[in-house]
Amino acid sequence: MSMDKAVDLARMFAKTMSEKCVPQNGDYIKDGLIYCGKCNTPTEYRTEFHGEEIIFPTWCECAKRADEERERQSAEAQRAIRAAELRRLSMMNGTLSECTFADADMDGENSRSITICERYAEKFPQMLADNRGLLLFGSVGTGKTFAAACIANALLEKNYSVVMVSLVTLIDSADDIIRRMDDIDLLILDDLGAERSTDYGFERIYAVTDARYRSGKPVIYTSNLPLETFKHSEDIRCARIYDRVLERCYPVELRGVSRRKREARRRFEEMTKLLEVNKGD
Ligand SMILES: [Zn+2]
Repeated sequence: MSMDKAVDLARMFAKTMSEKCVPQNGDYIKDGLIYCGKCNTPTEYRTEFHGEEIIFPTWCECAKRADEERERQSAEAQRAIRAAELRRLSMMNGTLSECTFADADMDGENSRSITICERYAEKFPQMLADNRGLLLFGSVGTGKTFAAACIANALLEKNYSVVMVSLVTLIDSADDIIRRMDDIDLLILDDLGAERSTDYGFERIYAVTDARYRSGKPVIYTSNLPLETFKHSEDIRCARIYDRVLERCYPVELRGVSRRKREARRRFEEMTKLLEVNKGD
C-alpha cells in the first residue's frame, strides 16, 4: 500500500470515528478539539502521520473511568463464576460448606489441632508444592470433619480447587475423581476406615490414593482409627493404603468434645436445673 493511501485511510478512519463521537450534551469545542462537558478533558487528540495532522477520537477521563469500572465488574463476575464452579466441584454439602475457622471452638482441647489446621491452610502454597497432607485422627465426635471442612473452605475462598468426599462416597465416584486428579489442588478423604471392608472397596480406595500419590499433590485424611492402626495394620489391603498415608500426611490428633456435644450437655444441665426439684426447694 502506498503511503498516500495509508494517510487517506487513517484520515478516513479518524473521520468515521469522530462522526461516531458526536458531541454529547454539554460537550464543547476548545482549540479545535471536542471536550467532554462532564470531566472537561478532550475526547479527541491531534497526531501527525507522515506530515499530515490527523485528529483522532479518544476517551475522556470519565469515559476511561467508566471503562475501568466495566473491566472491574467483568473480572469480578468471572471470579464469582470461578468460585461457584469450584464450590460445585468440591462435592461439599451445605453444612460442610459453612464450616469456618472463625466458628472453631478455640477454648476446648482442640485448640492446638485447630491452630495446626489453620496454619496448614495459610501455608498451603508450600504444602501443595511439597505434597504435604494431614491425617486428622481421633474418636467419633471430636470435630475432625469440621476441621477438614474449615481448611477446604479457607482454600476455596482463595480459589484453590478442593474436593472433599467421604470414603463411602468415594467408592462410587472414584473414576470421576481419578479423571480430575491433576486439577484438584487439595483432596480431602473423610472417614478413612469406615468404608465397607470389601475387596472391591479397598481396590477403589487404593486406586484413588495411588493416583493421588502419583499426581504429587496433597491429601488430607480424617479417620476414627487410632494412629497405631495406621502404623501396624495386619490387613495387607489396609497396610498398603496406610503406608502411603503416613508417608505424606502429618498426623494431628483431635480429642476435644465437639462444641455440638458440649452445647447439648449444657442444655441438658440447664433443663435439669429448670425442671428437677432439688431437696430444700
Ligand atoms: Zn468525560
